[in-house]
Amino acid sequence: MKTSKSREAFERACKVLVGGVNSPVRAFAAVGGQPPLISRACGSHIIDLDGNEYVDYVCSYGPLILGHAQQEVVTAIHKAVLRGTSFGATTEEEVELAELVISAIPRAEKIRFTSSGTEAVMTALRLARGVTGRRMVVKFRGCYHGHCDAMLVQAGSGATTTGQPSSAGVPVGATSDTLLADYNDLDSVRCLFEEYGSEIATVLVEPVAGNMGVVPPAGGFLQGLREICDAGGAMLIFDEVMTGFRVAWGGAQELYGVQADITTLGKIIGGGMPVGAVAGPSEIMDRLSPLGDVYQAGTLSGNGPAMAAGIATLTAIRNDADFYSRLDENAGLLERMLRTAAGDAAVSDRLTFNRVGSMMCVFFRPGEVKNYDQALECDKNAFAKFFGKMLGEGVFLPPSQYEAWFVSSSHTQEDFDLTASAAKKAFEEIF
Ligand code: PMP
Repeated sequence: MKTSKSREAFERACKVLVGGVNSPVRAFAAVGGQPPLISRACGSHIIDLDGNEYVDYVCSYGPLILGHAQQEVVTAIHKAVLRGTSFGATTEEEVELAELVISAIPRAEKIRFTSSGTEAVMTALRLARGVTGRRMVVKFRGCYHGHCDAMLVQAGSGATTTGQPSSAGVPVGATSDTLLADYNDLDSVRCLFEEYGSEIATVLVEPVAGNMGVVPPAGGFLQGLREICDAGGAMLIFDEVMTGFRVAWGGAQELYGVQADITTLGKIIGGGMPVGAVAGPSEIMDRLSPLGDVYQAGTLSGNGPAMAAGIATLTAIRNDADFYSRLDENAGLLERMLRTAAGDAAVSDRLTFNRVGSMMCVFFRPGEVKNYDQALECDKNAFAKFFGKMLGEGVFLPPSQYEAWFVSSSHTQEDFDLTASAAKKAFEEIF
């Protein structure tokens, strides 16, 4: 495999971009080696500067549910750009994308678009605090909600502790109202409500955890959160930045039949362009400025090309009645093929496969993974070796044990065949 052009370009990148990247996980820090620089992509494949082609399961970390450079999305962006990129005034396209999102997300009556998932979460938290007049936020260990100060918290050694910042530059004051609970453990949430109940504004959760690998909610977990919030007068925020339009048209709320008060979205609703959103009932959303007293703004929020990409993506999904069942079937096929590859390589007992629809991952540890502690017990060295070998065979996986793999509607049987045979070889060589 030729790598000279990527190597040279990455060296150049490292001189001017911090770590050669604009988002940390892209730097391959967890797996070693140098990342290829990507020149273009089409469908389920990406191609690097040296012309190497990979089956891509990163899919831009989730947005590209249709695959790369789909004609209808590219055309929509092109047409939008020709009309002008951003006006600082409302357009019909913003209304159209809002109507599409509202038609899908339970309880959503109004939307505020942002340019990233991080901003959507920041806004949702401010809104929940503004509406309840309370200050504390419950988040779950191992869940990621973007890089706003208050959510950059790692757990202490106790099961539930008040948060300590996990990044330099985050003042303790910014995280002192962040309470940590354990994913899939309702008792850890109940304990926090017993101690701090009247001060808790909201419980914020990834309804399917997708940032500690993929960890599905245990039966009754999301329903239990709904009940605890209702009893405690707190708002339930589902961070569906990853799961929205990914696990079902109506996101995890449709899949699991539990409704949140506020929903955050991102990734797929922007069709590969920068878009985030906060959605909820009018009585909550109308507290945002300009109608209400909770301030939020954005120069490029709702810009034309981003809205156009989102509309084209959601419209393509909506017009295909079998979209999610087919995607689930395909991802299920890939999972079965990977399990078979592990079986053939006699390493099944060292691995755990988790999947919810087209989000999946392979944990390099035996036994179930249903929370952050179990996810942390993985053999990260083995994953790093697996990653490198898969890359060498033309399969581009997320470069961390703790990122989700995404299957798009562009992935084919041929892609899965290549992936499974590369995995079998990699499993045999590693263990
Ligand atoms: N919430 C969740 C659940 C996410 O997965 C992410 C990003 N992976 C974010 C929020 C932050 O979104 P962004 O990177 O667009 O700021």
